Amino acid sequence: MTAVAVHNVQKTYNKIPVVNNLSFEIPRGEMFGLLGPNGAGKSTTIRMLITLTRPTQGEIRVAGYDVRRQAAQVKRSIGVVLQQVSVDVDLTVWENLEFHGRMHHIPNPERQQRIDRWLGYVGLSERKDSLVKTLSGGMKRRLQIARALLHEPEILFLDEPTVGLDPQNRRRLWEIIQDLNQQGMTMLLTTHYMEEVEFLCDRIGIMDAGALIELGTLAEFKAKHGEGIVIQQQGDRLESQFFPTLDAANAHIEAARDRTGMMSRATNLEDIFVKLTGHQLD
Ligand code: ADP
Repeated sequence: MTAVAVHNVQKTYNKIPVVNNLSFEIPRGEMFGLLGPNGAGKSTTIRMLITLTRPTQGEIRVAGYDVRRQAAQVKRSIGVVLQQVSVDVDLTVWENLEFHGRMHHIPNPERQQRIDRWLGYVGLSERKDSLVKTLSGGMKRRLQIARALLHEPEILFLDEPTVGLDPQNRRRLWEIIQDLNQQGMTMLLTTHYMEEVEFLCDRIGIMDAGALIELGTLAEFKAKHGEGIVIQQQGDRLESQFFPTLDAANAHIEAARDRTGMMSRATNLEDIFVKLTGHQLD
């Protein structure tokens, strides 16, 4: 079964296309990562998938529903964690979840049971009565996740879920995300962190300038672009050259007359990203 289907989607703002001829599908249970530099169109894509922005052209189905004609059914089937903190900081942790639970018409005592379960899951039970404004950034993000899960969605959308978090909190969120996926949740996350995608995602879509320029698993990317890389200092620049295997990269260095400033190593996602887009991510 397909959880997300995007066919020939275009989005234009003031006649300028910011998403162009985008097509991809996410099967149920997959962890899919959309990677790209700032301005690539990742947020616009996610906003179309979660019915916040209408596509200018093309078709999007989420959980089998059309985002244009069946927006209410789409909203019931998805959980959303956006980049900006979208919980009410002047309410308590519990009040935020209570409000969300009522919006989704979850009756009591079921509602309280679910609030308790998801607060326990994200490690916030002890902060149930705290005002959200007193929580750390990592805690706020975990609260957003608990809220997104309260109505038991089929698909979870995470827009830059760990941006601005310290390494420890980022790890903690990764564990939660990975665990949810292992329980069968389909997930789409956008990020500009390479290691996030390498660590979490089954399949990766690389976006640049509104278009999907590569789609597949990391292993497929490496098989296509090369498993080994030779990096060489050229003045103040680094030149990279890809090789089918690390052995071939090593052999290239050994055969070189002047090996000064040359090194080889296994290719990583960032190497491939730079090769494809011509720019580095921060
Ligand atoms: P990303 O999430 O990959 O950083 P975005 O989807 O936020 O990229 O933005 C893609 C492009 O669309 C950017 O050039 C941005 O300025 C433009 N854009 C996004 N939202 C709007 C809007 N509401 N009106 C006009 N332009 C927009």
